[in-house]
Amino acid sequence: KENILEVKNLVKWFPVKKGLFSKTNSYLKAVDDVSFSIPRGEVLGLVGESGCGKSTTGRAILRLIEATQGEVLLEGQDLYRMGKTALKEKRKDMQIVFQDPYASLNPRLTIRSIIGEAIKLHQVVSEKERDAFMEELLYEVGLGKHFLNHFPHQFSGGQRQRIGIARALAVRPKLIVMDEAVSALDVSVQAQVLNLFQDLQQKYGLTYLFITHNLSVVKHISNRIAVMYLGQIVEISEKEEFFRNPQHPYSRALISAIPSSSPEIKRERILLKGDLTSPVDPPQGCRFYSRCPEAQAICKEVQPPHKEVGNQHLVACHLR
Ligand code: SF4
Ligand code: MG
Repeated sequence: KENILEVKNLVKWFPVKKGLFSKTNSYLKAVDDVSFSIPRGEVLGLVGESGCGKSTTGRAILRLIEATQGEVLLEGQDLYRMGKTALKEKRKDMQIVFQDPYASLNPRLTIRSIIGEAIKLHQVVSEKERDAFMEELLYEVGLGKHFLNHFPHQFSGGQRQRIGIARALAVRPKLIVMDEAVSALDVSVQAQVLNLFQDLQQKYGLTYLFITHNLSVVKHISNRIAVMYLGQIVEISEKEEFFRNPQHPYSRALISAIPSSSPEIKRERILLKGDLTSPVDPPQGCRFYSRCPEAQAICKEVQPPHKEVGNQHLVACHLR
């Protein structure tokens, strides 16, 4: 399958002032040499704890923030080597759904105006066609058309996520970045919204980059899983292989923290000790060193390169 998205050596550093009288800058290395690709119509789950650079990665891919370095190819075209007009044209192919779209929904506008604006921005249609399309969109996300006249505050959290995806779908995108899109919802609502996201993804052949701190959220929806730690991808693999045969000590710890669905299967929880290393001027060796239960002397000195440990299964660890 052709890759719809290819991210190559993406870097996003934020300068941080060391102190009032310091002349040199430190850098918060939020995203530090991240590469991956997503085949068309697939879902990549991007997992890691908060502050590891997942959201920054998602935003830099969409150029909502500017990367420091790297390439982002959408259907073979580098979004970072593109003029304003071409980029604007490409914008309709990619959308983002946030943790709480309420923050990005104008509270004074009805859903009709909000989604209508998104449609107007990208295609010329009559008001009548637009209304019909919006009713269809609402139907697709499980909401009645009367909701078009409602204001954002009149919706529950789950309904707002449905509006969020309806608005994203309004421009008929190819790629959607889901940034903790179900993380704020109650567990029962979470499952419904996840199912909806998955149905829409399959029905329209959408490609998702599904960002979450919660591995169990992406367990079912993903084709592949990528694990991020302190600005870098430490493991990436096809999903079944990832859960059957995780290689990175951090991945193993994350998997061990998922509650087992059957009480007979006893999984030993791997607890991580040690401090989370700061992403500001991170150490030269393995960034997981301070918490790794398997750390060796070399890990402190040398950054582990990505190694292929199976079919398209990459891991960055000296011991593999
Ligand atoms: Fe742990 Fe060393 Fe592997 Fe890093 S390289 S994950 S410290 S064993
Ligand atoms: Mg985040």
